[in-house]
Amino acid sequence: MNKLLGQLFERHTLSLSEYEQLILAQTPTLLEQAAQLAETVRAPIYGKDVYVRGLVEIGNVCRNDCLYCGIRRSNQKCDRYRLSPQEILDCCDEGYTLGFRTFVLQGGEGAMDIETVCQLVRALKAAHPDCAITLSLGEWPRHDYQKMFDAGADRYLLRHETADISQYCFLHPREMSYRNRMRCLFNLKEIGFQVGCGFMVGAPGQTPLALAKSLKFIEKFQPDMCGIGPFIPQKDTPFGAHPAGQTEQVLFLLSIIRLIQPNILLPATTALGTVDPSGRERGILAGANVVMPNLSPTAVRKKYALYDNKICTEDESAQCRDCLSRRMKRIGFSIVTHRGDIKK
Ligand code: SAH
Repeated sequence: MNKLLGQLFERHTLSLSEYEQLILAQTPTLLEQAAQLAETVRAPIYGKDVYVRGLVEIGNVCRNDCLYCGIRRSNQKCDRYRLSPQEILDCCDEGYTLGFRTFVLQGGEGAMDIETVCQLVRALKAAHPDCAITLSLGEWPRHDYQKMFDAGADRYLLRHETADISQYCFLHPREMSYRNRMRCLFNLKEIGFQVGCGFMVGAPGQTPLALAKSLKFIEKFQPDMCGIGPFIPQKDTPFGAHPAGQTEQVLFLLSIIRLIQPNILLPATTALGTVDPSGRERGILAGANVVMPNLSPTAVRKKYALYDNKICTEDESAQCRDCLSRRMKRIGFSIVTHRGDIKK
């Protein structure tokens, strides 16, 4: 047994340089050991349950210009759309019939104004009081997050993207800052949201130390959720020629994050399923416990192109759900239909 992995399993903490060493020590054997330990800590909490969230991509209009992202405002080739509140409610109604009890509304920044977001959240809560609503709409002033929370939103996903300031600057335009991203995350937590952070694996400028900083941040911040997936190039962005992140490194990090925080909600992401046809299954086996099938109208799925070759852009929502249920069953897991809150 690797010493650092053993320590993480027992104490759920390592120093920054130990995280870095662990990341550098990745081998197929270590990957296997990490996955087994992750399974050992997850099993008493979540068993073989996989939580499911219906993802609605509400629009790709964005005022931000993140250099890696296909819906950045400078991308003239991005075919912009905004779903109407009624279209979003219809997607969620369909999702409810399919058994979803959590809806994630994600979009570019500027896809919807604050008043419309709040009205939508209230309408959704009125229609489905037994469902959790997760928002993933980027950076807002604290008072707007408070309004979303007061309207009834339960959770918020805002990936920190990287906890290394120089990599953060390398990935973002000058008007965006690591400080503000962090301020948003702390505000969300203080307001009372269940909060998710996260990062891309293999993003341009990533070093083992940068990854270690993300792990240390997760250990300190204790998020309820953490979204990680491979960076995947989008051809019309400045990083369009940069190679995609590696499946194995994502899997290793999923196991490590499970060991840092055994009860964390950890999705096996669509991006992981995009770089590897069995990526989501492998993600679950490495320690993830959430999947997020797409509920967006088929007509807009190709337009929400954060990266190239995104999977599931042709399927209907029911197909996505059924396909994922089958995939989970095949590896001995089952999708459960309740809100899927974190177990504390
Ligand atoms: N605008 C919102 C939500 C949409 S972007 C926000 O910033 O939070 C959602 C996530 O997609 C980002 O946090 C980023 O980590 C991921 N993403 C963007 N471009 C990507 C790419 N090229 N490859 C992989 N993931 C990407």
